[in-house]
This record gives sequence, C-alpha cells and structure tokens, in this order.
Amino acid sequence: MLSLSRAAKKILGREQRELSNGLQKAFQGVSISGVNVNMHVHSRSLSTHLGDNNNPNDALIVIGSGVAGCSAALIAAEKHKIPVTLLCAGSLPTDCNSYWAQGGIIYRNYDPAANDSAASLVADVQRAGAGLCDDGAVWKLALDGPDRVRELLLDESEEGRYANVPFDRTQDGNLSCCLEASHAAPRIIHFADHTGKAITEHITAAALNHPLISVVTDTIVTDLITAETEDKQKICLGTHTLHKNTGQRQSLVSTRGTILASGGLGGIYEHSTNPAGFNALGSSTSLATRAGAHTSDLEYVQFHPTALQIPNESCFLLTEALRGEGAILRDRNGRAFANDFHPDGELAPRDIVARGVFNENQKVDDGNNVFLDITHRDSEWLKSRFPSINAHLQQRGMDITKDHLPITPAAHYTCGGVTTDLEGCTNIMGLFCAGEAARTGLHGGNRLASTSLLEGLVYGGAAGDFVGRPEQGGLVHEILKETLHRSSETRDQIREWQDGKSLKKNSAEAENDKEGSKELLKKVRRIMWDHVGVVRTPIGLTHAMSKLAEIKEEASDLMRKNPCVETVGIRDAAYAGESVTQAALANRVSAGAHCIVLEGPDVNEVEASIEPQEDSTETSQEIGGALRLR
Ligand SMILES: Cc1cc2nc3c(=O)[nH]c(=O)nc-3n(C[C@H](O)[C@H](O)[C@H](O)COP(=O)(O)OP(=O)(O)OC[C@H]3O[C@@H](n4cnc5c(N)ncnc54)[C@H](O)[C@@H]3O)c2cc1C
Repeated sequence: MLSLSRAAKKILGREQRELSNGLQKAFQGVSISGVNVNMHVHSRSLSTHLGDNNNPNDALIVIGSGVAGCSAALIAAEKHKIPVTLLCAGSLPTDCNSYWAQGGIIYRNYDPAANDSAASLVADVQRAGAGLCDDGAVWKLALDGPDRVRELLLDESEEGRYANVPFDRTQDGNLSCCLEASHAAPRIIHFADHTGKAITEHITAAALNHPLISVVTDTIVTDLITAETEDKQKICLGTHTLHKNTGQRQSLVSTRGTILASGGLGGIYEHSTNPAGFNALGSSTSLATRAGAHTSDLEYVQFHPTALQIPNESCFLLTEALRGEGAILRDRNGRAFANDFHPDGELAPRDIVARGVFNENQKVDDGNNVFLDITHRDSEWLKSRFPSINAHLQQRGMDITKDHLPITPAAHYTCGGVTTDLEGCTNIMGLFCAGEAARTGLHGGNRLASTSLLEGLVYGGAAGDFVGRPEQGGLVHEILKETLHRSSETRDQIREWQDGKSLKKNSAEAENDKEGSKELLKKVRRIMWDHVGVVRTPIGLTHAMSKLAEIKEEASDLMRKNPCVETVGIRDAAYAGESVTQAALANRVSAGAHCIVLEGPDVNEVEASIEPQEDSTETSQEIGGALRLR
C-alpha cells in the first residue's frame, strides 16, 4: 500500500546526525514529545526510552492497550528494539474490549487426532464471512496464528518478555482445546469463561514491564497529525492528546509511525456487548476518516444474538457456548421458536439467530419477548461451566439454573474498519492499523467466533514487524524524519492544539456542553439501533444519514469550544456512525451481517441493480425472512 517514492531514495543518502540536529532546532520551543510523567499511572519517564540519537520523537506511537496494541508494541520493542509509547484512554491498560472476551482464542491444534489444518480453519472463516473474505488475509491468520500465540502468549523463556497465560489444560498437561459453533475442529484455547481477562492481564503486564515501552494511561487521542512529503504523499507524524482528568492538551510526534489499535465501534449502538467508555466509540474510524485514511466494509457490524437485556444497564454477553450446551430460545409464553426461522434452530449462524431474536422482540411493545433457557441442565455443572455469567446474574438477583434470561441482539464486533494491507499499512504513510480497528479483509461479511483475539496478535505483530524492518519501517522512518524536519504545517498544527483555549472551561456552560454531549450520544445510539441496526432499509438509512450529519456538526462545534471526554466521545461516535451508515446505504446486497430490506418506491430500481453473490443464498432467503418482520 505504501508507495516509497523518489523522496525515499534521496533521503536514504543523507547523514543521520545532520537530520537529527536539524529536527531538534526545528521544534525548539514546541513541546512535541509532550508527555508529562505525572499523568501516567503506570509509565516511566520518556527520557529512559530514547531512540536514535537520543531523540524522543523516535518512539513508535501505539494507540490502544488491547491485544492488538500490546502485540504491536511488544514485537516492535522486544524483537526490533524500537522504543514505544503506548497510549490508552482507560485508567488501567486492561480497560479495553479484549478484557471482556469470554470464549477463547483459536490455536490450531497439531494433534492429528484433532483432524485440523490451516485449510480447514480457512474454510470456516470464509464460510462465516459469506464468501466476502480476502483469501490472503485469512491464510495469514491461519498460517501465522499458532506461532504468534506461542510467541506472545505462551512465553516460557527465562527472560519472559512476552506473556505466559495460564490457559486451561487437560489432565495430561496439554492445552485444552474446545469446539465452538461453526468451527470444524476443537481449536479454541481458553481460561474458563473469561479468557480475555487472563490474556489482557498478562499481555498488558508484559508491556508495562518492558524497558522500551512506556504506557501512558488516561490519555485520549483526539486527532492524528498529518503532513505531506515533498512528493505530496500524505503522512502521519503523530497524535494530539487530551488528558481525561486534567484536560491537558499535548501533542506527540513520532518519526517511527503511529499504530491505530483503538478498537471498534460497537459502543455507538443503543444495545451493545461492548463495555462503556472509550473502548468502542468509533475513535479508530473517526480519527482515520478525519486524517484522510480509507475505510471499508463498515456496513458489516456483527450483532450478537444473545445479550442480557436489563433496563438502564449496558448489555452483558451471554456466550454462544450456552446455546452450544443446549440453551433454548423461548418467547414470553415459553414457546421455543428457533426452528421457525432456521432448521438448525439455536445453532444456526450468528447473524440468522440475531435476526430471529430481533424479529420476536419486535412483536411486543416493550421489545422484550425473548428469553434464553438452560435450566434443564444440571445446576452444579452450569455454575462451574459458566462462573462469570453465573456471578453476573447473581448480582442482579437472577439465577442461571432457574430463570429464563431476557435477551436482545446487541452490536458486538466491527468486521470492517480502516483499510490496511497484510502488514497494517494504510493509505497514509506512517499510519498503521491493527485489530478490530482494521479492515484487512479477514472477516468479509461476518466474523467467525474467536478469531478476533488471534487477529490482534497476528496483525498487531505484523505491524510491529513492519515498523522494525530496516527495508520497510526503516525507510518510512527516514521519510517521516525528513518531513518533520521541514514541515512548518506540523509545527502550526501542534501550536494550534496546545495553545487552544477552552472557551467555556469550568463554567456552567461547560457543564451544559457535557450534558448536551451525553444527550447527543444517546441520540446517536438510538438512531444507529433503529435505522442502522440488525435490519436496515434505504429509507431508514437515508433518514439516519441526515440526522447524524446534523449531530456531527453540533458535536464538532462542542469539541472545538470545549474539548473534554464527553465532547471528544460524541464527535467520534457521530463520525463513526455516519461512516457506517454511508457504507450501509451504498451496499444494496444483503450478505453476512448486513441485512437490507429493499422496500418503497425505489425498490424496482435498486432490485435491478442487485447482482446475486456466490455463497449468499442463505442471506437471499433471509431477505424474504426479513420482510416478514414488517
Ligand atoms: C463481550 C465480548 C466478548 C468477546 N469474546 C471474544 C472471544 O471469546 N474471542 C475472541 O476472539 N474475541 C472476542 N471478542 C472480541 C474481542 O474481544 C475484540 O474484538 C478484540 O479484543 C479487540 O482487540 P483490540 O486490541 O483491537 O481492541 P480493544 O481491546 O478494544 O482495545 C482498544 C484500546 O484502544 C483504546 N482507545 C480507544 N479509543 C481511544 C482514543 N481515542 N484514544 C486513546 N485510546 C483509545 C482503548 O482505551 C483500548 O485500550 C469479544 C468481545 C466482547 C465485547
């Protein structure tokens, strides 16, 4: 994706020292590394992580502390000895979506008795993706996956620079591999039903302990700093940040590049399994779009069919494994209805079950007509098999062994994202992207269960490797250094951000802005759920586009006047919502997680433009099924 140009060749011949001295002069008086030691709970002083020629700008910036961000940071720092500054919005680096993963992570089992192979995994991913996956991306996951798991998560070496996660093991000491829906072989390793917690605690600890990684918490990236090379190629030189608690504005420049690993956008929906806060408010899409990076496949938002529905609470995921273990979908009269919408009933593909549940909930005014029932299984076994779910329910006065659990589909995973190649490069030089933030082509129209943690390791690791290789990242490094050296545009952007005054800070008006932003976020979430949700129509999407455009304007205005957690959050959510809606409106073919019902006056016109796709038979039938929803 990168076009390494004439500028690259010119620059490669130059004296490193001359450039570095020039850089320091060029930025005199501007706080470009700008990270205040006091503001990080966990990090060390940047001065101990200086790169080439002791220049703090030589640290790679990684945005996000989930599996993707930590993998990229660890590979760059440990394997390639590149200093890294890892920024995250949470007060703890474990505050990320990765932490909440329940089921597990794919680790292809080499035991011949398991009858598994890379080709078998590839076939499963492609089937789930409705035939829309990019082969190269799927094969990369299948081939590189096992080595990345061993390298990053099963590090038993003495130095132990990576993580060593205590996954569940069988009695003979081997990793316990379980089977999940739509997987042809038992290849998912896990830690009870809170695998994400175990992985995240260990991989963030590895990042925190690494001498070349500086973890900066409570820091929201508000924008990317971009400039142009002499050849007019757009490049990314770093980030503007806002401290969550103090409101301090800073800018961080990097001549190594910036890796966006800031997760997905499930949180912009009224019903979402993603945790609250900055984890899934669409920052990745929003930052990238404003910087001019390309996005794709954003219409494929995966809805999980079974999220616990409790009024005024964010949704809690009830894992697919429950249905795997025999849980039944019932309506409020106790009738099991799953065979009405698919012969495989509860075990039908995730998007089909999601639409089935959505359909039933639509039948009642309060939208609460579907319940998950696993009370027929042994109660002691249930408690030991699903300890986290059991604990969550108990805190709310419910009992997995006795109650039918109220459920709704909920936005779960962003299959599309910032368009990258297989090494994380975007169309902007020096801007990389990995994990749920990225669209590599791996997921196509829908994600196979348990692929995303592995995606974070494989593609986060690949981005770290790219940055570390002299012939790839080294070349980008030289171009970024050169551009930074002469870019007055960058200096201006930094000064503008750092000198900017909040017009209404600490005033009653500022409080109003925050409240207003929260209200706007509720509106975005409602619009996304109602019109860009499980089932979409062109008319609904058009309505959503115009509403979101208005909110985006208002949010951008609020953010300019008063940058704070709330205004930055609503601006990101509005940008991301608009991008998803635009993508959904542009795609009139239902496939995978994107279901569009063509109705109204434009139906003939659009129907004529639809070309049937391979492997979309199931979904085409679903269009008919979805029509029954009305
Ligand atoms: C309930 C649940 C269960 C799941 N179960 C599984 C499973 O069993 N198996 C599986 O493979 N996948 C599962 N997933 C999906 C998987 O957890 C995620 O897709 C994956 O972990 C994403 O990792 P990531 O590193 O890309 O992003 P995340 O882990 O989401 O990390 C994003 C990071 O970006 C930071 N960030 C965001 N915006 C900003 C900003 N503007 N400035 C600074 N920092 C920012 C956040 O603070 C965070 O550190 C599940 C997801 C959920 C929600």
